[in-house]
Amino acid sequence: MEQWKDFTDTSRIAYFSMEIGLSQEIPTYSGGLGVLAGDTVKSSADLNIPLVAVTLASRKGYFKQSLDESGAQHEAPVEWDISERMEQLPARITVPIEGRAVTVTAWLYQTKSPAGGVVPVLFLDTSLRENSPEDQSITDSLYGGDERYRLKQEIVLGIGGVRILQALGFKVFQYHMNEGHAALLTLELLNQTRNINSGSWMNTLEMNRKAVAQRCVFTTHTPVSAGHDRFNYELVHQVLGDDIIPPQQLRELGGDNELNMTTLALQLSRFVNGVAKKHGQVSQRMFPGYEIHAITNGIHPLTWASAYMVSLFNRYIKGWALQPELLVRVDIIPDEEIWDAHQGAKAFLAQYIKEVTGQQLFLDVFTIGFARRVAAYKRNDLIFHDIERLLAMGKGRIQLVFAGKAHPQDNDGKALIQRIYAAARRLDGEITIIYLPNYSIDVAYHLIPGVDVWLNTPTRPLEASGTSGMKSALNGVPNFSVLDGWWIEGHIENVTGWSIGEETKEGSSVGDTNAADAADMYTKLEEQILPLYYDDRAGWVKMMKGAIGKNASYFNTHVMMRRYVTEAYLQR
Ligand SMILES: *Cc1c(COP(=O)(O)O)cnc(C)c1O
Repeated sequence: MEQWKDFTDTSRIAYFSMEIGLSQEIPTYSGGLGVLAGDTVKSSADLNIPLVAVTLASRKGYFKQSLDESGAQHEAPVEWDISERMEQLPARITVPIEGRAVTVTAWLYQTKSPAGGVVPVLFLDTSLRENSPEDQSITDSLYGGDERYRLKQEIVLGIGGVRILQALGFKVFQYHMNEGHAALLTLELLNQTRNINSGSWMNTLEMNRKAVAQRCVFTTHTPVSAGHDRFNYELVHQVLGDDIIPPQQLRELGGDNELNMTTLALQLSRFVNGVAKKHGQVSQRMFPGYEIHAITNGIHPLTWASAYMVSLFNRYIKGWALQPELLVRVDIIPDEEIWDAHQGAKAFLAQYIKEVTGQQLFLDVFTIGFARRVAAYKRNDLIFHDIERLLAMGKGRIQLVFAGKAHPQDNDGKALIQRIYAAARRLDGEITIIYLPNYSIDVAYHLIPGVDVWLNTPTRPLEASGTSGMKSALNGVPNFSVLDGWWIEGHIENVTGWSIGEETKEGSSVGDTNAADAADMYTKLEEQILPLYYDDRAGWVKMMKGAIGKNASYFNTHVMMRRYVTEAYLQR
């Protein structure tokens, strides 16, 4: 075990994220943003990138999902004990919240690479006796509570994070905000710059702004402005107060009418990026005054390859896990061994399903997988658009496996899960439909490699990147997806998978877009995908290899982190 002090010898990139998903045992994530952050940390450890990550302790996690017979979602806190997973550090700092000085401490988790690199992750925690019971709960529930609660969490993350890194002796040369939740860190840096420079706000705001921006990188993840965190200034005044920054200056940086965390981060970062090429363009249109780059998301290869693929790759493509570019050589693996590894993963999934839902997944029946957050724009139930047509082509020939949580306040999302349950009842005995509850890292690890095709049907252009399709590609599971997010870059028709609908068709998720996308999906399934699967094994394995060789070799967090280093962190 290294001492935390060992980590303070090197000057580091401080990577701030409201959620980080490192493993099933540390449930401090809700979905894609957190899993991406976890994979970022793991690849940084593999590549020996000097990074320190900062997040919240989220002692009650996001939530545990259970589903009743009708598919109604029930939520419960996640039970876990932080002290069993990491080590408490001696540092204590305070942050201003509603005029009180709230004490914050940090827990240290060490992410270790098989190659020897280690990345420290700090989990900020207010659950300390010196805080009131209410303040102790600030770091309990990820995305729980109201606006006020969220703002308090963002103060702990942004301002508390900068202060605790300093208290522990970390030297930081770049701050990376993974989404706008962490943007208050810029105010603390500005505050400290002011103290050094002159003590006067009025004349030097622009100078100080530039000095702070030199140290900050911002990644935006949301392609709609409604998705960006905002707080009204009255609330900010009440909760944060005016000591960190005078109200007028805050308005200049964060927007006239309300504090927009994206605006704040944009104004105080010298490098800003979206998470796929298309998302970079969409963000550029949303924020015309700023230069927005694009660095496409990735996944951590060793985390997301099934045990069957890991052992196959280890035998044929030595070094692939630390240098996933080598997966371009997938063609040297014999077809039967790729197929057998996949069938192993499918049997592993079947066993898991049997344990969780008691249902039977047939290993010789074509299986479509779909798992992601349940939200209207993701159109999780598009495959049931024309249920008679699905039944006509799919009876006995198609199985479907779903998973996904709806945000506790998203009633549309919850209703969507019930629609999937209703479709399952309608198709009972004809098309097997499985809904695995409580989507999480563990569920994803079992589910994604074990299906035959990975389906994605978002409303364009609302899928900023998407990463589960990269996990499927790594496991030889081709994507069948609407052209949005990363898939615009990864898709080669009939080589890495299949598209659904046209690329350019943007807009609402209702009416003709739904009908057109569904029709295209059914036609491709019926005329191309099912015949290839059932009648042409060699052709199918070629697709599997296309996914591995042309998608997984590139869409991973090793490639992504090399890009962040050369295009963001080390650029001047
Ligand atoms: C990979 C992953 C996600 C993100 O998948 P998307 O395709 O971006 O929706 C979400 N949740 C879990 C548990 C994951 O493993």
